[in-house]
Amino acid sequence: MSKLINGKEVSAAVKEKIKAEVLDLKKKNITVGLAVIIVGDNPASRVYVNAKKKACEEAGIDSFEYALSGDTNQDELINLIKKLNNNDNVNGILCQLPLPKHIDELAIINAITPDKDVDAFHPVNVGKIMIGDYNYLPCTPAGVMELINSTGVAIQGKECVVVGRSNIVGKPMAMLLLHQSGTVTVCHSKTRNLAEVCLRADILVAAVGVPKLIKADMVKEGAVVIDVGMNRLENGKLCGDVDFDEVKEKAGFITPVPGGVGPMTIAILLKNTLTSAKIKNGIK
Ligand code: NDP
Repeated sequence: MSKLINGKEVSAAVKEKIKAEVLDLKKKNITVGLAVIIVGDNPASRVYVNAKKKACEEAGIDSFEYALSGDTNQDELINLIKKLNNNDNVNGILCQLPLPKHIDELAIINAITPDKDVDAFHPVNVGKIMIGDYNYLPCTPAGVMELINSTGVAIQGKECVVVGRSNIVGKPMAMLLLHQSGTVTVCHSKTRNLAEVCLRADILVAAVGVPKLIKADMVKEGAVVIDVGMNRLENGKLCGDVDFDEVKEKAGFITPVPGGVGPMTIAILLKNTLTSAKIKNGIK
């Protein structure tokens, strides 16, 4: 029976630290602000945006919401981003993805100045992460690193398997594990013998988007299993990429869904926004 990695607890500790720092900055008349842009009425995006705004409020960070209609065109969105790039009250700009199909996501990511790119999606920030010289880490992979570290299991020299190779989760996840000297394998939809590869993992991160893909017979006894997946089932319930009930009997540590990676993603977003404000004000 594995130990549960409690994302709510780990994220609460991170958020408390942020809140204290934001308060210290306020005493120096420095405010911290995050602009959140949402285009259209995707219900999942609305849930994420609300959660981010609430977390800002709790941490003392100002949040500025820009809710645009689904027929907003790309130029209008880029013009808004340009204004926010130059707005001194805004330290971070987040454009909730996915965007409507008529808008090129890459063009939007590129329009956000790297200094305010608190999602760390801009090619400049992606490149900085690659060479290990960065100000911001991408929220979900950085949150996963905090969860792994909370177990006390050292990453150095361990077999790490990441299932999924998206630009926002899988690829940067692999890079962060590599920075900590893990021996990293990245799997994807064309990987042969996925079960065999996963079985090698001391640390297994699933970021796929397929409910319960990872079964107990794919997991090494005692492994650290991190489930990034957030899949909405027909009954409305959230379900991860890992078959939790089976795998919890075999893993050493495991994250639940919900209550695992999700809260960490938001905590790191706040951390990046705070970092941006500190950099702007010359504070280390
Ligand atoms: P993407 O759809 O962008 O990427 C999914 C990846 O999984 C792809 O690399 C794909 O391979 C791979 N894949 C798909 N099917 C299989 C399979 N059967 N076997 C092995 N690999 C497979 O998803 P994201 O990375 O954006 O998100 C992944 C999951 O994480 C989703 O459930 C998402 O909701 C969740 N998520 C959760 C967050 C959180 O805060 N908790 C934040 C972000 C995402 P290929 O490249 O070959 O197509």
